[in-house]
Amino acid sequence: MTLRTGFATALCCAIFFGATFLATSALAQPPSANEMPSVIQVPAEAQASPHFDATAATNAYLAQIPPDKTARSDAYFEGGYWMILWDFLYGVVVALLLLNLRWSARMRDLSERVTRFKPVHTFVYWLQYLILTSILFFPGTVYEDYFREHKYGLATQTFGPWMGDQMKELAVNAVLGGLLAMLLFGVVRRLPRTWWIWGAAVTIVFLIFTVLISPVYIVPIFNKVTRLDNPKIVDPILSMARANGIPAKDVYEIDASRQSTRMSANVSGFANTMRITLNDNLLRRGSPEEIQAVMGHEMGHYVMNHVYKLIMSFSIVIVLAFVYLRWSLDWTLQRWGEKWQIRGVGDTAVLPLVLLLVAIFGFVTTPVFNSLIRTQEYEADMYGLNTNRQPDGFAQAAIHLGEYRKMNPGPIEEWIFFDHPSGRNRIYAAMRWKAENLKLFTVEQQSAESSTPTPPAPPASVGKK
Ligand SMILES: [Zn+2]
Repeated sequence: MTLRTGFATALCCAIFFGATFLATSALAQPPSANEMPSVIQVPAEAQASPHFDATAATNAYLAQIPPDKTARSDAYFEGGYWMILWDFLYGVVVALLLLNLRWSARMRDLSERVTRFKPVHTFVYWLQYLILTSILFFPGTVYEDYFREHKYGLATQTFGPWMGDQMKELAVNAVLGGLLAMLLFGVVRRLPRTWWIWGAAVTIVFLIFTVLISPVYIVPIFNKVTRLDNPKIVDPILSMARANGIPAKDVYEIDASRQSTRMSANVSGFANTMRITLNDNLLRRGSPEEIQAVMGHEMGHYVMNHVYKLIMSFSIVIVLAFVYLRWSLDWTLQRWGEKWQIRGVGDTAVLPLVLLLVAIFGFVTTPVFNSLIRTQEYEADMYGLNTNRQPDGFAQAAIHLGEYRKMNPGPIEEWIFFDHPSGRNRIYAAMRWKAENLKLFTVEQQSAESSTPTPPAPPASVGKK
């Protein structure tokens, strides 16, 4: 989380499960440099046989990935660890500059001159803050979201359309962030002693509101979302959906290839806007087994009410964040409030300090957020395997997702940085499942043996079945 995106992003990240809604590409593209192999053939060690071994099967799948692709994927993902740190530190520097140079106090004075009507005053301050910080963070944004994504073959946009998306994002942040800022400063001014309780409540309601409107009003700003209509893909999916009690109309396709090459799918929305969306990269490159495996996973999110459970978990974190904010704002304002020309918690000039404190909280709790989400992702993996019984399709999907996620991290690394189980763990889970369900699979090796010359058949014995 960076200060640039602040509250709006912190809230929006709850909406999507493992999906970049800014991703995508539809036209035939040359294979990108990091493209993982499509493992259509099940490796020999992973085929059903009397000596099937889950670890050997997992290793056989991993061996399908050429070493240079693994190195590239690792470099991409590990670079992300450092970006968390650099973004955080840069955000701290920017916040301290805004406070110590009293730019924040000046933006407050300016917005007070524009209007005496408090909510509008807050909104005008927010706009100034958002534009100023977007400019200060722009070099980092261009590097991280544009040049670096292109370098790793994950981006499909030229600079113009990319910049267009950035401007749209800025507009969304202006509206949503402005709305939340007006609500929260209103709460602080009216309830100066209990603001942290009511502020947490308002933030939770705002989170639910954002999740609710996102699939219908926010995602379509960036991408085209349509109902899936290819019967070859749709029919098995709809059958699986009916079997799991999911309204069949809820399967959508998004043109994620407009922005990126990443394959993904997600469950988004709240109550009657909740839906499952597959992206076009997955539909284009995934085998039918792979698409069904991913779909079973998404249905797991749906059936196990993960959106609601995640909102509950995040609500607890939000309450803790407000308790911490109340304490840390008192502490910092007592020491430096006068120097920064901040009149109190209800003064809009306090915003860079609030977002600085939130960023520290977010930085420290990154493993907690990741683990909350990763735990649900693992549950959805298990649900998917039990539902669609496609362990090999699932392994294939895990390899494709390795294009932007390290396949084989250490356990602590996975705990801190991974919001999904690592590719290796996902393949192992699938092979472990297969090992216990071998009877569901024909003994695949027999077909290979049938090509070798068969010895003359022994004389038929009486009573042969
Ligand atoms: Zn998921």
